[in-house]
Amino acid sequence: MKKFLSLVLSIVMILGLVACGQKATTTTASADGTATKLVMCTNAEFPPYEFKDGGEFKGIDVECAKLIGQKIGAEVEILDIAFDSLIPTVMSGKADFAMAGMTVTEDRKENVDFSHTYQKAVQTIVVPSTSGIQSVDDMYGKKIGVQTGTTGDIYCSGDFGEESMMRYSKIVDGFQAMKTGKIDAIVVDDQVAKAIVEQDSSSFKILDTAYAEEEYAIAVKKGNSALLNKINAAIDEMKSNGELKKIVDKYIQ
Ligand code: GLN
Repeated sequence: MKKFLSLVLSIVMILGLVACGQKATTTTASADGTATKLVMCTNAEFPPYEFKDGGEFKGIDVECAKLIGQKIGAEVEILDIAFDSLIPTVMSGKADFAMAGMTVTEDRKENVDFSHTYQKAVQTIVVPSTSGIQSVDDMYGKKIGVQTGTTGDIYCSGDFGEESMMRYSKIVDGFQAMKTGKIDAIVVDDQVAKAIVEQDSSSFKILDTAYAEEEYAIAVKKGNSALLNKINAAIDEMKSNGELKKIVDKYIQ
């Protein structure tokens, strides 16, 4: 009986060890930096950082994420969701990190940890080409379009009041609304403004005034320092060896 029990115990222990051993290699969304697959959530409506081109994800963030993945030995899978769902998705562990031209802010830092920054950005004001709006001061009492949950949304709501706000889950829908006269201005990140206005330069103009200056970083679940350290090391390397610049230059002239 004793022998039988110890045999059962050893089997249980072996099974336990096998289970533990497997954990590290099959982990996906709960990655601690040892996973072989990492889930990146993004909002692929934000050219040149992330967009879909014939069903394929492209852009600065997409290419950077793949390169970071290569450096840390993980395959990166993309989860395309609404911008305002990105932080909750990282917090719940359904994605390992968010990379979406996401600005580092003190409020967001309460819910996620940010990597080293990899790009600077400016919140810019876009108006119809015939508009009389010339500066931030002219925007009071006007209808302002933003992408839901972005820093543009947060700053404009504070400065111009809730009644001025028109929110869109895709900023291109805001540009469409501005084209038909439903809104007077859009506040969006500079490179995204350029990419969209370039396609329709007779309809829109970008004002010279910078509304806010910011920096982008990758967000991971709070406390996931194993993954964060690896991402930071990869970003640092890409910054110093020119790999980051090479990717950026492909998309921003
Ligand atoms: N940089 C802005 C923010 O973080 C907008 C990002 C986006 O729309 N993808 O809020």
